[in-house]
Amino acid sequence: MPGLIDRYRARLPVGPATPIISLGEGSTPLLAAPRLSELLGVDLHLKLEGANPTGSFKDRGMTLALSKAAEDGARTVICASTGNTSASAAAYAARAGIRCVVVVPGGKVALGKLAQAQAAGAVVCAIDGSFDDGLRLVLELCERHPITLVNNLNPYRLEGQKTAAFEIVEELGVPDWLALPVGNAGNITAYHRGFREAVAAGDAAQCPRLLGCQAAGAAAMVRGVDIGDPETIATAIRIGAPIRRDEAVRAARESEGAFVAAADEEILEWYGRVSVLEGVFCEPSSATSLAGLARARADGTVEEGARVVCVLTGHGLKDPETATAHSAPTLRSPATLAALERIALG
Ligand SMILES: *Cc1c(COP(=O)(O)O)cnc(C)c1O
Repeated sequence: MPGLIDRYRARLPVGPATPIISLGEGSTPLLAAPRLSELLGVDLHLKLEGANPTGSFKDRGMTLALSKAAEDGARTVICASTGNTSASAAAYAARAGIRCVVVVPGGKVALGKLAQAQAAGAVVCAIDGSFDDGLRLVLELCERHPITLVNNLNPYRLEGQKTAAFEIVEELGVPDWLALPVGNAGNITAYHRGFREAVAAGDAAQCPRLLGCQAAGAAAMVRGVDIGDPETIATAIRIGAPIRRDEAVRAARESEGAFVAAADEEILEWYGRVSVLEGVFCEPSSATSLAGLARARADGTVEEGARVVCVLTGHGLKDPETATAHSAPTLRSPATLAALERIALG
């Protein structure tokens, strides 16, 4: 499969002179989930965005952001990040030969994500502050110096991310609902744009209803106000002031969708279930879409039998600490047949 710029070139803001910085992103699996479907009383499909090159959907936006940065002759790119943006920016910047600086909230980034940014040679800086603090500082730096911002305020990020909607329409048609986790609300905005463009092109009859799912401790969209000290185990969406709030409100309203919040315990419950019942290992933030869907089924927002696509935004390997802390412990055994037999036979 080509990268997503080659696949959707006609619908993206690239020209013949744009160097394509790609790691083969996009074209991710859309998997039927029969066991979870039965549990939830819907026809559920999972969009596995963890299958992107750095393990999250951020690669869809980053291929475009770095291609345009390279076209413009950028020397340095920078982002504030809860983790996945930095992993993706670092990899695509390495591919482009551009210097990359990432600013993360100290102690609040999953281990795999930090390791990825470090391995790709990025300058990784942990601040004594939140993501929202980091973003404010990074924006100021970009105003003062010739540094290119690759946070989702960069308009090319959403252009790349909208392609996930095209893929779903091509493979499945238009589902009744699309459920996804919401932090800065860039991705829900991008999906809305992608589905609307598919409708305009005659590829789809309508936009699915969008279900924006948040962690209860960082539910700035659900509550309608920013949150000073967001807190959740779903660190990728530990954000108090969503950058794309207004567009996301419009996306939910125009699609006749909704925002919903789920507690950390519910997020962890569905995080475990999707692994154990479907063999799909995602990060806790991604499971927020399933926890939110369960809530929306319980209160009748999502009707029985609806066809639903849940976007699983990032790979489980991103956050090995949460995985090991919330699974059965590893057994220790002497290296003997008798001991192993006892364990293997239960
Ligand atoms: C970035 C991210 C999100 C949130 O996306 P927004 O565009 O900020 O709403 C959700 N899940 C994962 C795994 C992410 O990396």
